[in-house]
Amino acid sequence: MTETTKTMDIAASRRGLLHLAACVGGAALCAAAVPQAQAADLSKASVGYRDIPSDQGKLCAMCALFILPAPGAAHGRCQLVAGPIAPGGWCQIWTPRS
Ligand code: SF4
Repeated sequence: MTETTKTMDIAASRRGLLHLAACVGGAALCAAAVPQAQAADLSKASVGYRDIPSDQGKLCAMCALFILPAPGAAHGRCQLVAGPIAPGGWCQIWTPRS
């Protein structure tokens, strides 16, 4: 094996590792996103949802599970709770954004 061939093999191995890391990371992101997108099946009643903020001022717009409204829409969505979600609403599984 020549020195040039060794260098090319090492470069190819590094590219392979980087590609593998990208694929694994992408798969993890996809795997995390798909269940969340399909898991919005909790009823509003089951989580105590209401269209007004909590007594502590917590609201859906500040929740990590909130999905912003489409442009021009008044309501967004939630990753776990079914149905339209008011940005100023709140429920018992409110989760702070990190
Ligand atoms: S507070 Fe509840 S309904 Fe609102 S976004 Fe967070 S989890 Fe969803």
